[in-house]
Amino acid sequence: MTPFPPLTESAVAEIRRLVPPERLIDIRERLEPFSRDAGEEQSFPEMVVEAVSPEEVQAVLRAANRHRFPVTPRGLGTGLAGGAVPLGGGVVLSLAKMNRILSLERDNLLAVVEPGVVTGDLKRAALEAGLFYPPDPASVDTCSIGGNAATNAGGTSCVKYGTTRDYILGLEAVLPTGERIRAGVRTRKGVVGYDLVHLLVGSEGTLGVITRLYIKLIPLPGAVATAVAFFTDLPTAMEAVQAVMEGGYLPSAIEFLDRACLELVGDLLPFPEAKTAGAFLLVETDGRPGSISGEIEEIGTICSEKGAFEVLLAPDSRKRDRLWEIRREVALRIEHHAAFQMPEDVVVPIGKIAALVACLPEYEKAYGMKIYAFGHAGDGNIHLIVTADRRDHRERVVAGVRALLEKVLSLGGTMSGEHGIGAAKSRFLSLELSPESIRIQKGIKDLLDPLGILNPGKIFPPE
Ligand SMILES: Cc1cc2nc3c(=O)[nH]c(=O)nc-3n(C[C@H](O)[C@H](O)[C@H](O)COP(=O)(O)OP(=O)(O)OC[C@H]3O[C@@H](n4cnc5c(N)ncnc54)[C@H](O)[C@@H]3O)c2cc1C
Repeated sequence: MTPFPPLTESAVAEIRRLVPPERLIDIRERLEPFSRDAGEEQSFPEMVVEAVSPEEVQAVLRAANRHRFPVTPRGLGTGLAGGAVPLGGGVVLSLAKMNRILSLERDNLLAVVEPGVVTGDLKRAALEAGLFYPPDPASVDTCSIGGNAATNAGGTSCVKYGTTRDYILGLEAVLPTGERIRAGVRTRKGVVGYDLVHLLVGSEGTLGVITRLYIKLIPLPGAVATAVAFFTDLPTAMEAVQAVMEGGYLPSAIEFLDRACLELVGDLLPFPEAKTAGAFLLVETDGRPGSISGEIEEIGTICSEKGAFEVLLAPDSRKRDRLWEIRREVALRIEHHAAFQMPEDVVVPIGKIAALVACLPEYEKAYGMKIYAFGHAGDGNIHLIVTADRRDHRERVVAGVRALLEKVLSLGGTMSGEHGIGAAKSRFLSLELSPESIRIQKGIKDLLDPLGILNPGKIFPPE
């Protein structure tokens, strides 16, 4: 990335004319929270603008073109790839105050929202209307719908319901040049012209600032049922996952924990022998109340037949919460346990999950790191939390991560299923994408952002 010079006096004066002082931040201590997200990267902006309208977003981007300063869009800063970290300094454009649900149309199964709406608030508003917005990143109550769109966030329900992308019918955005566009539709279908919606979704704030979203809602499933199963080893657990899918079931979550994770949450496990398990599966189904309890029992039977030494069903929401706590607590405990961590979120074909996890000890030994594997067994998206007990081992861990990603690719996988590339993984991009693909993608970036002012330094490796 070509470094940007500091904001000029005339640029600062123009920003001050455009935005009232109560929504401008330029004091060092108050800039600190905007210098990082939930990942490892850090870089300070010179100024933060808390926008409240598309017009304001547009005005800031026009000023950025005139004065050539970088602008980094930011939702609620829970990203794990450094996407909202202002590598080029300049202005962070926070969308957090654009947080209104503009309409929730029950008859059209549609919500129209501003980008700063907290995802959990949208889910609850849909629920109150008897509707369902399925995407459920674990950060659901701390992240924004605009951030979810920009990263195409996923969650545990992807196996059945897909990712954020599958729920965005249309959007409005301000392009890096300051032009405003509306893309996509408000209807359930639409194929007019190129699909600009899905170009912007997942573009990590590098192609445009999303200012409004037209969101597809679906009917609310009437009931949910959950089971957990304990296995002596992961390959056996994965055979059970295959058998469940081959049996014609499509659970709304199939989560797993490996042995290293189970050791961290031993105190939460429901019976003493669970601590000896090599793998844990949590399976959830949803649908019509009459059919769900029978379905989860059948899935439990499949797990037992495939070698689970214990299967527990959760008939009520209290018991369900206790089982989910085992899965949710893992990430927090890893964070407390390790001096340094790199959260990877690779995806491999479902049939290759066990093979990938089986080779982790080899990488741990070769690179002096400890790896925890858990995540979405139903879609092959595995969270590999690569940790080290000393921060000064960072370079060795980065080399270990590179080797691991090469392994993932050799298994037919991809390096990120949820978090994106951002700043954290740009150095690895060319492991997965060909030079032609990178050239075309950079060409799209140059077309939309000829001055390279929007979120510079992200996705593409430094030249
Ligand atoms: C505890 C925890 C659990 C998590 N679990 C999950 C999970 O299960 N699944 C998952 O996918 N992710 C997960 N994440 C990662 C993170 O929550 C998601 O990436 C989320 O989508 C980021 O939303 P945000 O509002 O915090 O965006 P930010 O972190 O503020 O920004 C993320 C990216 O989006 C861009 N951006 C934000 N808003 C806009 C906008 N309006 N227009 C254009 N670009 C924009 C930013 O420039 C940046 O590149 C988790 C993170 C944490 C800390």
